[in-house]
Amino acid sequence: MPDSAPLHADMPSMPLGETYPEIREAVRKLCEGFPGEYWRKKDQERAYPTEFVNALTEAGYLAVLIPEEYGGSGLPISAGSAILEEIHKSGCSGAACHAQMYTMGTVLRHGSEAQKREYLPKIATGELRLQAFGVTEPTSGTDTLSLRTTAVRDGDEYVVNGQKVWTSRAEHSDLMLLLARTTAKDKVAKRTDGLSVFLVDMRAVKGKGMEIKPIRTMINHNTTEIFYDNMRIPASSLIGEEGKGFRYILDGMNAERILIASEALGDCQWFIEKASTYAKERVVFGRPIGANQGIQFPIAESYAHYSAAKLMAQKAAAMFEAGLPCGEQANLAKYLSGEAVWKAADCAMQTFGGFAFAEEYDIERKFRECRIFRTAPISSNLILGFVGEHVLGMPRSY
Ligand SMILES: Cc1cc2nc3c(=O)[nH]c(=O)nc-3n(C[C@H](O)[C@H](O)[C@H](O)COP(=O)(O)OP(=O)(O)OC[C@H]3O[C@@H](n4cnc5c(N)ncnc54)[C@H](O)[C@@H]3O)c2cc1C
Repeated sequence: MPDSAPLHADMPSMPLGETYPEIREAVRKLCEGFPGEYWRKKDQERAYPTEFVNALTEAGYLAVLIPEEYGGSGLPISAGSAILEEIHKSGCSGAACHAQMYTMGTVLRHGSEAQKREYLPKIATGELRLQAFGVTEPTSGTDTLSLRTTAVRDGDEYVVNGQKVWTSRAEHSDLMLLLARTTAKDKVAKRTDGLSVFLVDMRAVKGKGMEIKPIRTMINHNTTEIFYDNMRIPASSLIGEEGKGFRYILDGMNAERILIASEALGDCQWFIEKASTYAKERVVFGRPIGANQGIQFPIAESYAHYSAAKLMAQKAAAMFEAGLPCGEQANLAKYLSGEAVWKAADCAMQTFGGFAFAEEYDIERKFRECRIFRTAPISSNLILGFVGEHVLGMPRSY
């Protein structure tokens, strides 16, 4: 794939070309050790890619956003984006471990010094995994402010009751960020008050008030539903102030959008590379199928969509790093990359014809996997709702 050379007159600090080329190169090398057959087997067995996650951890890639004083590399978000993008561009998947990057911000910005000193160095070395993020519930879905899981203060503890769904990687994580209601919805001054975030040490509560049930899905995502039945956690698990949790989670959303967009962009490049290579090599009716506009143009169109989405993601990351408000850009990057990857995936399916359906080409697996980018962690519709209301000033739709 040619390197893009983004130019934004209004953003003179925008990188020209790819950020962190050395990291990208090293991630690509690491990923060579995890070819399609590795991911195919994990997919068939619905197994966690422990070896891959361990390799990333040992190389320090999952700790790049942790400040140096807590044992990480202290790099900005575009380093995290570079890593996730290269993982996906190489045909691998960051889904088993990406949450560590985007949940980190909540702990860093709002956690106490004691919480940071206790957990971050161990997360940096890989001794502990912070991979689980418990927000979504079966009844409230996208409407986070209607969540029903409660955490009630009882002396030096909180008692948690309720149910979460789609808490991914819970079986492979030691720590979890959990969002729960600490003040009833009808007793808060502002509708965004009353929710609190907890950094839960899952080792102490698994089987003791926390019951995890895997959900088998169309992709190998190691996702679960979790039942909380009088789960007792120390009051020191609370992050920041009680009742301000929704704001803390929102604070981390732009980082999450930018990082997930990078994964989608990596997948875009993988699909486009596979499709264009196959289109050059596959000969039918005496000529490469890529000589037909019906095959060539959709691939070129996918590249155009990918390139536009990538520029927006780079802009969002540059603004985030400059400390500028970037809700619009981060959301647009997530939206555009999610839509672009779905187009690229469908185009690769069409280009490979019948062989797209054969497991050994990995197209069908990646096609299934990349569909998530239009649904989670935020669906395309909800992003359009955000843009309609907050950017274009139209009435609130959610
Ligand atoms: C594999 C997987 C992993 C996940 N991992 C996690 C995780 O680790 N932690 C976690 O907390 N959550 C996780 N999620 C949850 C994910 O974030 C939600 O599925 C997603 O936010 C949508 O919520 P929902 O499924 O309840 O859909 P709903 O909220 O029921 O929405 C259904 C559809 O209706 C649309 N819709 C709803 N309201 C509106 C509106 N006002 N305007 C227009 N359209 C609307 C939505 O866009 C969506 O397309 C995961 C989900 C999946 C599938």
